[in-house]
Amino acid sequence: MSVDIPKTEREWLKAFPEAKDTIKGYIADAREEIITIIDRQTQYKRDILGWNDRWLLDLAIEMTDNSINRLEKRIRRWQFLLARPKKGDQYNVEQAKRVPIADLYEGQLRPVGGRLQGKCPFHDEKTPSFVVYIEQNKFHCFGCNERGDSIDFIQKRDGVGFLEAVKKLT
Ligand SMILES: [Zn+2]
Repeated sequence: MSVDIPKTEREWLKAFPEAKDTIKGYIADAREEIITIIDRQTQYKRDILGWNDRWLLDLAIEMTDNSINRLEKRIRRWQFLLARPKKGDQYNVEQAKRVPIADLYEGQLRPVGGRLQGKCPFHDEKTPSFVVYIEQNKFHCFGCNERGDSIDFIQKRDGVGFLEAVKKLT
């Protein structure tokens, strides 16, 4: 008698479907970390007038950008793992992520301190607490705590999965 031991991540996930929730938790945590970093970057840039050494700011931005890239790569791998893409299908994630969130947003966004601000499309509110970081093309609602990139925006807005959202954007 032989026992099949899962070899790939995908096989493990099939054997232990409850691990999906854990991975979803990882994705949510990584997203939170990215927004925290972007908030910090925005702060650095706003305070640049008080800096004598421009190179120090550049270094800080570069280091934080690297952290964001690392986190995004991890998120993408997890998302593909959960989404189970069909063989042979092409998903242009990079292209999808570059679609400006400001273009997907319906309504009025106004510039506030290097970011765009408007009413949140994901919860009912009177005071705008939805923020778009133009440069990084990320959003964060300080009211309902929804956050992410253009793919997350479409997933949430249209109630579709990761791959479906990528397709809609490309
Ligand atoms: Zn919200």
